[in-house]
Amino acid sequence: MSLYTAHVSTAPSSRNEGGLDIQRIRQDFPALHQKVNGKPLVYLDNGASAQKPQAVLDTLVHFYQHDYANIHRGVHSLSERATRAYEAARGVVQRFLNAREEREIIFVRGTTEAINLVAATYGRTNLSAGDEIVISAMEHHANIVPWQMLCEQLGAKLRVIPMDDRGVLDMQAYQDLLNHRTKLVAVVHLSNALGTLNPVEEIITLAHQHNIPVLLDGAQSAPHLKVDVQALDCDFFAFSGHKLYGPTGIGVLYGKAALLEQMPPYQGGGDMIEEVTFEKTTYASIPSRFEAGTPHIAGVIGLASAIQYVEQIGLQAIHAYTQTLLDYGTQRLQEVPGLRIIGTAPHKASILAFRIQDIHPHDIGTILDQEGVAIRAGHHCAQPVMQHYQLPATARASLSFYNTREEIDILVAALQKTVRIFSL
Ligand SMILES: *Cc1c(COP(=O)(O)O)cnc(C)c1O
Repeated sequence: MSLYTAHVSTAPSSRNEGGLDIQRIRQDFPALHQKVNGKPLVYLDNGASAQKPQAVLDTLVHFYQHDYANIHRGVHSLSERATRAYEAARGVVQRFLNAREEREIIFVRGTTEAINLVAATYGRTNLSAGDEIVISAMEHHANIVPWQMLCEQLGAKLRVIPMDDRGVLDMQAYQDLLNHRTKLVAVVHLSNALGTLNPVEEIITLAHQHNIPVLLDGAQSAPHLKVDVQALDCDFFAFSGHKLYGPTGIGVLYGKAALLEQMPPYQGGGDMIEEVTFEKTTYASIPSRFEAGTPHIAGVIGLASAIQYVEQIGLQAIHAYTQTLLDYGTQRLQEVPGLRIIGTAPHKASILAFRIQDIHPHDIGTILDQEGVAIRAGHHCAQPVMQHYQLPATARASLSFYNTREEIDILVAALQKTVRIFSL
């Protein structure tokens, strides 16, 4: 597995940010060192997708150049090497999430597919007409639509935990929603639209008092926080590789073995069976049961490399550093005339969503692009959040450990310029 071990530049330098040497770390990301519209790129769209370190790119190239073959089938050496790397990656993810067992890790396309898998398998077998699923007012569409589809099929009901104008969930209302008809709670750990860090420990404890399993949407939390699924005691946890500095098209569903074992298959095909006859097929045990067909082998291996990369920096250090950037950004953004931050919960991470007067966020995004600054403008796949604030869209800067205070300064200067253009 050593061939697929990512390395972080560790040579000492004079500038240290809370133990992290950001300038050295930036050297690991080739895409950051380019000009966009004649200006140095300031990449602040990490919540949508993060850039890739050279270590991950090298891993992918090495795999395709030397060890590429299909897995779990061949008796030949390349297939054995590919299989070994693929299954070693499962161990990397297991340790990353502190899952109890490797077989609790299922490789999927991303957070979206992970949630759809739970809806299609756990949901369809455990829910019936009149049952309820509890989500929150700040969910990404990926954690709304699969449940709505399930509810339509079964005659079940979606219940929504309300939030206040800061983007804080109403925990009393949540408690009141839980009852004997509730069959699942599915909430976002860290909101992509608001940056709210939800009190998931409390959410899980309360649900478990009613024996209700909890799914956490970890698409934003996995890249920013040390996640320990055993300490959290969540029943399912979903995240995407591409937001965690890994390849696109790969992600993870963690599920407690006891739950996964009871769940029927998601898709049928190769690799997920024990025995097939035309009369009856018996299914493989977990995790293979949920990994039908040839998986994204290179994606899995690239994801493991990305995880090893962030682990070498350290999730604690990443969180501490990006919190200082968030504080600095929150404070500096207030200097922009007419700017209002959307999402002001006391516990936040990595996300700075905002409006400036009546300027359309797409116009802000376009002007910023002229300055080399990449942000996101839109509804962030969370239209109910926009409806809460009666806004069609927001602008959003989302932070990574490779961002700097200087980049925040450039963002603020570009926003000041935007205001000047619009007040002419
Ligand atoms: C990005 C995101 C998703 C969806 O992830 P995909 O990689 O597009 O499947 C779900 N939830 C949250 C909170 C996200 O930020």
